[in-house]
Amino acid sequence: MPIAQKIESSLAGSSWIRKMFEEGEKLRKIYGADKVYDFTLGNPDVEPPEEFHRELQRIAANPIPGMHRYMSNAGYEETRQAIAEVLAEESGRPVTAGHIVMTVGAGGGLNVVLKTLLNPDEEVIVTTPYFVEYGFYVSNHGGKIKEVPTAAGFQLDLTALSDAIGPQTRAIIINSPNNPSGVVYPAETLAGLGRLLEEKEKELGTNVYVISDEPYAKIVYDGITVPNMFKYIKNSFIVTSHSKDLALPGERIGYIAINPDITDSELIFNGLVFSNRTLGFVNAPALMQRLITSLQRVRISIDDYRAKRDFLYELLTGLGFEVTKPMGAFYFFPRCPIEDDVEFVNRAQKYNLLLVPGSGFGLPGYFRISYCMNMQIIRNSVPAFTELAKEFNI
Ligand code: PLP
Repeated sequence: MPIAQKIESSLAGSSWIRKMFEEGEKLRKIYGADKVYDFTLGNPDVEPPEEFHRELQRIAANPIPGMHRYMSNAGYEETRQAIAEVLAEESGRPVTAGHIVMTVGAGGGLNVVLKTLLNPDEEVIVTTPYFVEYGFYVSNHGGKIKEVPTAAGFQLDLTALSDAIGPQTRAIIINSPNNPSGVVYPAETLAGLGRLLEEKEKELGTNVYVISDEPYAKIVYDGITVPNMFKYIKNSFIVTSHSKDLALPGERIGYIAINPDITDSELIFNGLVFSNRTLGFVNAPALMQRLITSLQRVRISIDDYRAKRDFLYELLTGLGFEVTKPMGAFYFFPRCPIEDDVEFVNRAQKYNLLLVPGSGFGLPGYFRISYCMNMQIIRNSVPAFTELAKEFNI
């Protein structure tokens, strides 16, 4: 076997992703890109804000000697300070540059945290539905993923979490706003989780860390804000990026923030910096670090996303689909009218509708729609969704 068994079985397990992609390409060739309604990708179709382009031009026009060299593995002090200042304001906690490590996106940041925390076979709890990559990230570092169901409306089920936490539990990954459900967890839930973890840590004599994966924190609707995790959970990390809020997914710029109240903050910081280096990231992209330093209070306009959410929510509920209204991010996670979500998604392809089965997020019986795409294509997809609803008599 030319590749490792672990990679071989991961490839086999996720072959449906490749199949769906290939099917989409085939349909686009036959019918043309504007007649294929591809709701599978989480790649924002919006451009970065004006401020980003201005800053890019300013930096390019005034190159600083050494600006393309290696720097401290944690990233530029100035950038980390700018991030810390905003986080300190949001959390009311004394966050400093010493709590920030710049990373290669949130994906890179999650790998750095997991590498730093995990001993072999320790468990990381995720709540279903969850971002499919978590399973691979945890496995990268020798850990085991433990799936815990959510309560009504995909909210956290503290009783189920309490039952799942044991001596092997090292961390819980929380993702709010959630991919794929769009749900935001309210402050009361996080406060409840904080109390639960304090009790469990006492009972088990271990630390159970919360890793809050928040790349969608600034894409929220209806006046909602995402509560700052540091206020509620002592042993916590915020991992995020500017992939979505500044629409820079290809630039791979993100960071990890350590709660200043965490036990052994300095040791953890050193561990994260070591992992960032030895995973081969070395440091986050230099130019992007400089760019985002002055953009910490800037985000893309979310008006277009809101319009798409509202349009699709009306459409889906009008057609009879059972769906939780997303509070943030750019995904819907409706229930399938039949139990077999893979079959449902396959049958949707007949109408050139490309959807992702819930099984890909650890929750069969649902499907995901990603709406970070052109509004005209969303409008063009109405007859296809209508036909699909008719086929299943909903
Ligand atoms: N976490 C979630 C929930 C995501 O949806 C994504 C990307 O889609 C990531 C992490 C990774 O984001 P990044 O581009 O910052 O690595």
